[in-house]
Amino acid sequence: MEVQPALALPEGLEITGIEMIDEALTITAISTQRSPCCPLCGSPAARVHSRYTRRLADLPCGGHQVRLLVLVRKCFCEVPTCARKIFAERIIPFVAPWARVTARLFQIVQAIGLATGGMLGARLAEQLGIRTSWMTILRWIMALPTVPIEQVSQLGVDDFAIRRGRKYGTILVDMESHQVIDVLPDRSAETVAAWMQAHPEIDLVSRDRGTDYATAATQGAPQATQVADRFHLAKNLTEIAEVVLARIRPEIRKAVQPEVSSLQQGDDGNRADWKPKTEADEQQAGLARQAERCDRYQQMRQWYEQGLPTRDIAHRLGVTRRTVQNWIKKGIPYAKPRQKRKSCFDPYADAAIALWQNGALSSLQIWQALQTQGFKGSYNTVHRFIETLPEYIKRRVGNGGRSLVLPEHPLQHFQAREAVWLFVRDPHDLDETEQSTLQAIREASPTAETLYQLVQEFMLLLRQRKGERLDAWLENVAASQISELSRMVRSIERDKAAVVAGFTLPQNNGLVEGKVNKLKLIKRMMYGRAAFPLLRQRVLHAL
Ligand SMILES: [Zn+2]
Repeated sequence: MEVQPALALPEGLEITGIEMIDEALTITAISTQRSPCCPLCGSPAARVHSRYTRRLADLPCGGHQVRLLVLVRKCFCEVPTCARKIFAERIIPFVAPWARVTARLFQIVQAIGLATGGMLGARLAEQLGIRTSWMTILRWIMALPTVPIEQVSQLGVDDFAIRRGRKYGTILVDMESHQVIDVLPDRSAETVAAWMQAHPEIDLVSRDRGTDYATAATQGAPQATQVADRFHLAKNLTEIAEVVLARIRPEIRKAVQPEVSSLQQGDDGNRADWKPKTEADEQQAGLARQAERCDRYQQMRQWYEQGLPTRDIAHRLGVTRRTVQNWIKKGIPYAKPRQKRKSCFDPYADAAIALWQNGALSSLQIWQALQTQGFKGSYNTVHRFIETLPEYIKRRVGNGGRSLVLPEHPLQHFQAREAVWLFVRDPHDLDETEQSTLQAIREASPTAETLYQLVQEFMLLLRQRKGERLDAWLENVAASQISELSRMVRSIERDKAAVVAGFTLPQNNGLVEGKVNKLKLIKRMMYGRAAFPLLRQRVLHAL
């Protein structure tokens, strides 16, 4: 059997032996290159100085590690002007000078590293019969040369979180080749502008609607057309429409079911009726809990004295046997009155409730508003608080034991968060129920009708890319007197050229956002702890 072709050793290497040593397939070979050339002057050598063995790791074979032992020559360079007197012959490109692995193993390990990262890469490599360490994998990934950036005429820019909420980076995508061409360590206008200045050939910049990249593009690529992302605009509009719908909720409810609103007396979760628990409420609840505990203890005592086994007592009370035993041993348990912990949020609770009642829908919006009032706490604090508000209302309605039989109506479950999608979607995509709900909302409130017209008009501009009709839309918004929309109008006016381009040109940031998602995946595979240089390398060379 011819072994040489199976192992695919290059010409100039001749196999002299194959054997298993320490579970590694050990292949001895000899270099048969005709006269080796001096690496310095390139002239072929005539005289051999000595021979030595190079030990090289190669691709695994049949699940075994492969070790290559290649006998190579050292030769004299006899060119009198050459500085090198003795040189070792090289086996390029099969093995790089000084390397201890073959080039093909090097490339495979790099590919494994790019796909999986250091730790996982090392484990995967071991399964494949390649012995390496995560350090080696990372070193080899970092050794990948940066591909020089060629001409880029359409540039897509977006940011991504290096550490969420603290540190952000910028991803740059060639919108024509769909390739990530660079990753920058921050998202400041200066950094991005400097990058753009090095590329005067850019004639289009697709970006989000933030001011940083707008400034960067204006400074760094003044020659380029800026395209603002139209889907962000659609998202803005959806959020605003939701707020408007929440505001006009009472109007909608009154218009369709006057009798219901009087019956429910605000217990349907109407925001304006909710009050936070006072200290007296808390105290009362605490006393009630304590009284219940006492009662349960008395009952337990009674059963115990009647000789009921602890197991049965525990079962009847719905507690563990350990609890029953503890109660018996210690007598009535002292219950500390529950105390509300003081938190940095307390002074802002009223403001948060007010915002919530006024229709601010997401805890994020409320958190942002509180920050302007000096609140220093985290988003989670606010989020947890807001989450409990509707819960509380639900509980109160449940405890009241009022279960009214109400007439069915398409709007009885009206919720701005759901209704807004009826406004945004293409009316042809709505089913019958959705259409009748939408119809009912529009008939219930003139504001809702106006809002619906504006939202649909906007979505049509977006779908058909009619940038030239944006002005007419802005005028209609101004005439509508829906105050929530005026902020959006102002922000569009500030960035109008780019917005119109966004509505007219086919480019959009969806492509860039896809790349950001891929970057996030890579980041998560590194458990979110990757240092920026490695993340950049893995994104730029991603398979
Ligand atoms: Zn030489």
